[in-house]
Amino acid sequence: MSAKLIDGKAIAGEARHECALRVERLKSRGVIPGLAVVIVGEDPASQVYVRNKALASEAIGMHSEVHAMSKDTTEEQLLAFIHSLNTQRTVHGILVQLPLPRHIDSHAVVAAIDPSKDVDGFNYRNIGALVLGEPAFYPCTPWGVMKMLEHEGVKVEGMNAVVVGRSTIVGKPMALMLINSGATVTVCHSKTRDLPAVTRQADLLVAAVGKARMIGAHMVRAGAIVIDVGINRLPDGKLAGDVDFAAVSQVASMITPVPGGVGPMTIAMLLANTVKSAEQAAGLGSHADTRIA
Ligand code: NAP
Repeated sequence: MSAKLIDGKAIAGEARHECALRVERLKSRGVIPGLAVVIVGEDPASQVYVRNKALASEAIGMHSEVHAMSKDTTEEQLLAFIHSLNTQRTVHGILVQLPLPRHIDSHAVVAAIDPSKDVDGFNYRNIGALVLGEPAFYPCTPWGVMKMLEHEGVKVEGMNAVVVGRSTIVGKPMALMLINSGATVTVCHSKTRDLPAVTRQADLLVAAVGKARMIGAHMVRAGAIVIDVGINRLPDGKLAGDVDFAAVSQVASMITPVPGGVGPMTIAMLLANTVKSAEQAAGLGSHADTRIA
């Protein structure tokens, strides 16, 4: 392998450690950062994600509460519950696990979260701030990618960046963050013509598609930095990214693995956003926009 491995697990570990120190500082002032996670229905994957978020919160000394609501919960009931969390002083971050059951408008639910507690960064106010390039809670997965690049000393400014995927959760906010950092950004999706011709232009290639190993070595310029956001379950039960790691690591200069790449950063950024919210509520200010977390 010629590419340098970007160890997301280790970088996320550093970020969590820094969060734990900030939690200690808050506790010494009588504030315990609190994360409320709301899950509606019984989707097994969502239940695992929610449990991991709660465990990660507790591991750094934060308070966490999981609110599991029945799949028959109405939108009105969920909105009323979000409003009650908005007013609770012990809750600094509110996260509604997506997807929600079809009968609930997820946009309306996310819009109901107090923007100062929207630690997932999906509320209109926070997305708007990202578009304007202003400080805000940024969506955790692409923000984690930016922090990884920063940690590795990658200077994004001036780079040709290609993002494959245009979802609201990953692709679009990723593109905005890269634009805000001075990259020249191309966003590809399922309608893109001749995808390999576009991805081969990339100095920095971010794959967020959800198709196992679809990015092959022929799609990557020699020396490019490759960030793999994809998490795909293979028939044998193992996890694979969107990038053909074995082949692409022969041509890239840096690459993230799956698992152990972007995934751990996502949870670390969620913790960082919640700590930042608690610091803001306590009038402590925050360094979260300039440090690893
Ligand atoms: P998504 O909402 O399904 O979006 C997938 C995107 O890929 C869409 O924009 C789609 O284009 C595009 N696409 C599909 N097929 C394509 C093709 N053949 N060529 C080019 N583009 C194509 O998925 P997502 O929520 O963004 O997630 C993407 C992946 O990241 C998934 O594997 C997910 O599990 C993973 N993920 C990981 C983390 C983490 O923490 N590491 C967090 C979130 C997501 P259209 O818009 O045209 O349909």
